[in-house]
Amino acid sequence: MTGKEIIKYIENWAPGEIAWQKDNVGLQVGSGERKIRNILLSLDLTDNVVDDAIKKDCNFIITHHPFLFHPLRKLDLQKDKNSRIIEKLIKHDLTLYSAHTNLDSVKGGVSFQLAKKLELNDINFLAPLKSNQFKLIVFVPEDFTEIVSEAIYKAGGGIIGEYSNCSFRTKGKGTFKGSSKSKPTIGVRGTYEKVEEVKLEVVVDSWKISAIISAMTKVHPYEKVAYDIIPLANINENYGMGAQGYLSKPMNEREFLAFTAQKLRIKNFRYVKGRKKIISKVAVCGGSGSEYIEDALHNNADAFITADLKYHTFQDYQDEILLIDAGHFETEIFSLDEVKNRLSNYIGSTKSKVKVFKYAGSTNPIIFYNN
Ligand SMILES: [Zn+2]
Repeated sequence: MTGKEIIKYIENWAPGEIAWQKDNVGLQVGSGERKIRNILLSLDLTDNVVDDAIKKDCNFIITHHPFLFHPLRKLDLQKDKNSRIIEKLIKHDLTLYSAHTNLDSVKGGVSFQLAKKLELNDINFLAPLKSNQFKLIVFVPEDFTEIVSEAIYKAGGGIIGEYSNCSFRTKGKGTFKGSSKSKPTIGVRGTYEKVEEVKLEVVVDSWKISAIISAMTKVHPYEKVAYDIIPLANINENYGMGAQGYLSKPMNEREFLAFTAQKLRIKNFRYVKGRKKIISKVAVCGGSGSEYIEDALHNNADAFITADLKYHTFQDYQDEILLIDAGHFETEIFSLDEVKNRLSNYIGSTKSKVKVFKYAGSTNPIIFYNN
């Protein structure tokens, strides 16, 4: 099994195209062509993580946070510890890959795992992605409607929320007149033809469009396939930031704080009281999610759990919503379990012997001082 196969599997779930534009997801160091011995997962890359990979015979490391984020200006092995980490990766033929905001934005990703850890029900996105879909309209001779639509579905088109194979079809008459150089499948060149056709419409994710067009034209019988690609302003229910859901049993504030600490296995966190006495609907965003507080309010959540909140943010939202800063590492670490499970299942299905390990130590740089 090569790194490329693992990357393909991960990006099928968490496409790089849904990551933030300024993010740096994907292959960081090494090569996807190498055969993988074992895989190590970690939120961050540190020297200890690299040592652990070497010890566990893992030559493929997957981190959530991209190790290479800011432009690299020099590799100074004497002054810079990150340069030395890159040197170690290269010397040991290790490949480093990162799934960051793309892993934040998928079902089962970082925030969904946080929501699951809090045992929320009816989990869905807090802020679904917008405007990353197209409407593909193609004109097909009636007999070919199924073949063409199947090819589109197989290439990933026609998905709306939890539904696949979604299309709309209208019958009509297509007209054309081929030039002397044309080779019409139906009719004769130079003759004005009228053919019974179906107008087939499907929704496609923007990053799948070229694969879908090539799959579609491959099975379409016409020499020249007529189709339209129209950008949509729709919400894409399958990708988004944050998550929200309901507690199995509504709790009062004290109960909910204790429940959060217990489920996330944390001793300390910062919070401000909200205005709701009973907590039932909870919104979360793993990592730095202060920009989604408004979404939590609009969605009528009673509490919002995220990380990296500022003093003035707490000040602004006190008396509005029970706002918890549960820590960046603490709100993201559980996502590695899901990545591990998914990867292990996939690798198992290929009968490969590659093992997936989680870095056993902690890469959290923050320590709480208790007097
Ligand atoms: Zn993060």
